[in-house]
Amino acid sequence: MTRKNIAIIGAGISGLITANELKEIANITIFEKARGVGGRMACRYKDEFSFDFGAQFFTAKTPEFIAYLQKFIDLKIIENWQANFVEIDDNKISYSRQWSEENKHFIASPKMNSLTKYLAKDFDIKLQTRISKIKKKPKSLEIFDDKNNSCGEFDLVILTIPPKQACEILPKNFKYFADIQNKEMLPCFALMLGLKNKPEIKWDCAYLKNSKLSWIAFENSKPSRNPSNSLTILSRNSWAKDNIDKDLEIVKNELIAEFEYASNCKIGDILYSDIHLWKYANIAKQNGLQYYYDSKNSLAICSDWLIQGRVESAFLSAKSLIEELKNQLFKNV
Ligand SMILES: Cc1cc2nc3c(=O)[nH]c(=O)nc-3n(C[C@H](O)[C@H](O)[C@H](O)COP(=O)(O)OP(=O)(O)OC[C@H]3O[C@@H](n4cnc5c(N)ncnc54)[C@H](O)[C@@H]3O)c2cc1C
Repeated sequence: MTRKNIAIIGAGISGLITANELKEIANITIFEKARGVGGRMACRYKDEFSFDFGAQFFTAKTPEFIAYLQKFIDLKIIENWQANFVEIDDNKISYSRQWSEENKHFIASPKMNSLTKYLAKDFDIKLQTRISKIKKKPKSLEIFDDKNNSCGEFDLVILTIPPKQACEILPKNFKYFADIQNKEMLPCFALMLGLKNKPEIKWDCAYLKNSKLSWIAFENSKPSRNPSNSLTILSRNSWAKDNIDKDLEIVKNELIAEFEYASNCKIGDILYSDIHLWKYANIAKQNGLQYYYDSKNSLAICSDWLIQGRVESAFLSAKSLIEELKNQLFKNV
């Protein structure tokens, strides 16, 4: 039996887990629009400062994900962040807890994209290639980049990209097209600040209620990070949605002012600052299918947004699709 040729669109954690699980039984080609892999498990650095400006940490609740992570824990690509965590309501600390060994909050080390970089090591990933068209042929699917160059013909195409971007390239007769159109991912502003001195704050990270902000983290409180005062601040998703078209300099200043109000602390000298708008950052818990597979169209989808905006959801979506493909497509392999 000849090996199937599979295209995976997106080199975030979903796409890379899928690629690794199928590489023994199929020929895999991965396409990624960005310059590097990792998607929302993202890291940015400048001089001594470094920021995990997408996923902040992740938890593992299911036995499958706990088992999957063990190899990476042994390799120290994943570590447990034992942060001094607080909840802030308006501008008062309403709850505090030391994260511990028992209830783990994982990070990839030394950067949040280290896990995806490891998962990408066996593939020659086609970076800076945005797939913008899928054409059905009698016995295959041909895919094209945004300059209309053919990127090859495949037996199966797996999309791991946000729902709005998926709808732009999927055929309208894709079995789950209507479902996907109803999935709404919410935006988030991620503010990155390199500070001269650490503000007079005793906690490492905070979840905020009743605020424009949802999250604050001092990056140097994570294991295997350098000691620089790198501060990552995330906006609330609903606030980002209402302010999505605002000038980024204005957003930056509003978020800094909100940080100072919520923490009761002046930010001090800022040596580096940047702001990133994630248009498709997060989605509420979903109740539908964990993956989509349309065998007639030879198309499949997996990503966190089928379950919830979490790294563990990305893993579960990918794993359940892989099982389905192994049962249906690779029964005799
Ligand atoms: C600000 C923020 C904070 C978060 N915090 C947490 C947290 O604390 N805990 C947690 O568990 N999760 C968190 N998450 C969610 C977590 O990052 C995601 O669940 C996970 O990274 C999703 O992985 P994925 O592979 O499904 O999607 P993505 O990481 O989005 O990967 C999709 C990839 O597809 C690429 N792509 C898109 N369109 C195309 C195209 N047309 N052609 C080629 N490539 C394309 C993208 O560039 C991207 O690399 C957070 C996310 C954000 C943005």
